[in-house]
Amino acid sequence: MSYEELGLKVGLEIHRQLDTKHKLFCSCGTTPPPEGRAKIRVMRRLRETQSELGEVDQAARFESLRMRRIIYEYDPSSACLVELDEEPPHPINLEAVRIALTAALMVGGRPVDEIHVMRKIVIDGSNTSGFQRTCIVSLGGELVVDGLRVPIQTITLEEDAARIVRAEADEVVYDLSRLGIPLIEVSTGPVLNSPTLAAKAAEAIGRVLRATRGVKRGLGTVRQDLNISIRGSGLMEVKGVQELELIPKVIDYEVRRLKHLASLVEELKRRGVQPEAVESQPILDLTSVFEGCESRLIKRKISEGGLVLGLRLPGFAGLLRGEGDVRLGRELAEYAKAWGGVEGIFHSDELPGYGIGRSEVDEARRVLGCGEGDGFVVVAGREARARDALEAVRMRAAQACALIPDETRAALPDGTTIYMRPRPGSARMYPETDIPPFRVSRELLEEIERSLPPPLERVAEELVKRYRLSNQLAWELIDSEMVEEFEAIVGLGVAPSVVASTLTEGLKQLRREGHRVENITPQHIRDYFKLVSRGETAKESALQVLAEIAKDPALAAEEAVDRLGLRAPPIEEVKAYIDELVSHVPPNERKSATGKLMGELMRKYRGRVDGALLNKLLMERVKAN
Ligand SMILES: [Zn+2]
Repeated sequence: MSYEELGLKVGLEIHRQLDTKHKLFCSCGTTPPPEGRAKIRVMRRLRETQSELGEVDQAARFESLRMRRIIYEYDPSSACLVELDEEPPHPINLEAVRIALTAALMVGGRPVDEIHVMRKIVIDGSNTSGFQRTCIVSLGGELVVDGLRVPIQTITLEEDAARIVRAEADEVVYDLSRLGIPLIEVSTGPVLNSPTLAAKAAEAIGRVLRATRGVKRGLGTVRQDLNISIRGSGLMEVKGVQELELIPKVIDYEVRRLKHLASLVEELKRRGVQPEAVESQPILDLTSVFEGCESRLIKRKISEGGLVLGLRLPGFAGLLRGEGDVRLGRELAEYAKAWGGVEGIFHSDELPGYGIGRSEVDEARRVLGCGEGDGFVVVAGREARARDALEAVRMRAAQACALIPDETRAALPDGTTIYMRPRPGSARMYPETDIPPFRVSRELLEEIERSLPPPLERVAEELVKRYRLSNQLAWELIDSEMVEEFEAIVGLGVAPSVVASTLTEGLKQLRREGHRVENITPQHIRDYFKLVSRGETAKESALQVLAEIAKDPALAAEEAVDRLGLRAPPIEEVKAYIDELVSHVPPNERKSATGKLMGELMRKYRGRVDGALLNKLLMERVKAN
């Protein structure tokens, strides 16, 4: 079945860190502090409260059910009282606003008149305040991807969350250095109807953001969330897809998963299983049934004072095992882990097994009152947790009879996804009263409009046209953000293809060989090519010289050339040597001997004198007599 027939709809939310000097609402810097320094630790707890209407947000209840201690660690150089929520936020960072407005104008968006900062409830502890500050900078706009017009819904600025260091059952530790770094979020309408198109749209957005020259690069600076649904399913908000290549994989997995869940709804309807029949199942104590079993997990849980609880799933026989990596059993296990903090579940489609024998299965079925068409789930652990886990399993199994619920899920590195929490209620935004609105003046917009950077596609075209580079080399320069460097060096009079391949392939090769390429600065490279342009060394020495600098970054390009003995001798010396070589060959044989003579010259001067120059001098000498 094609994606179109399934009614696949994907929307993107691309988040990228901005490379500003300061954080969004304070004057802390945005580069990570040095590792290994002692950190200050602060402990907090999160408690849910009712809204004015007496309602408790389901997502908030989910988190507070777990009642974990939250520890915040920070290096005082990278977080201040604002991150700790002990001091009001400062006015919004103008540098970040400018970058967001630049991106907005590049996609034809309509900037808002006034930027109003809002608070969005965040209940996992990743923000000390219990909310994330976010503000809409622009509405509308579009990108054309593969001929399809992809509407941009909003461009927003928000603060990045604290980075999770580790999460245990009753304690979670966050590092505050990332909290407050400006993030730009570009969200598209849900119009992308295939995995490849979604990946291309994400790439196109990435190019716009990079063209602003205001975004950070590298691992952890980009996070892509996908909103995925197929016809009849709920909305899956898949968070944290880090790499572009994973987007199609994640969508493909979600489609297979949703298709399977849709087929289960059909099958359970066909079997006449009502959600109410699942909801009314009691959770029963099966500890005595499993006391003698061989399962190490169950033995351990019982010896720690835990129980084994069981739940009958009427009409579910054979439906838990699923197809390949898409299984209702896995879904139920994820709910049990997320809501109860248990290690996992056992379900009837995989038993006997895991040290649980036929006799325990038969006895469990008898106690639970299972008929032939019924399934069951067993959880071992402390009573409260095991009960929370099975209640979540019961809720999810009841839903499976009628619908595919909305979920917030996390992307895993293998392209599958895992349940995180229910989707939060819609009314979770409210105004941030500590920050005055930012007026987007006509003057500011006009100023940004005047200096709008060209789209990267145009930069690539220009490079190809002006410097006769291949399309691939042009994009490699753009992707490695070396365009400015490249143009500066070419301006010294060095051949464009030599510069481009050194800056891309050359540096890549050095990295592959294990050289510490990060030690090589743009200044080093420019200084080196200055020597090449003045004929003081030959371009063939580039990688040798750069490798030497990578070893010892204190070295200037000139010193590296000398240390390697790659400085060109005076031109008179070269001419004299050519003269001597040529004079040993009888005049009538000289023309046919030029290849051999050139070989000798290269052996002597390779990496020191440019081959083309040697060839020219040799030819001049041979022609002379
Ligand atoms: Zn700060």
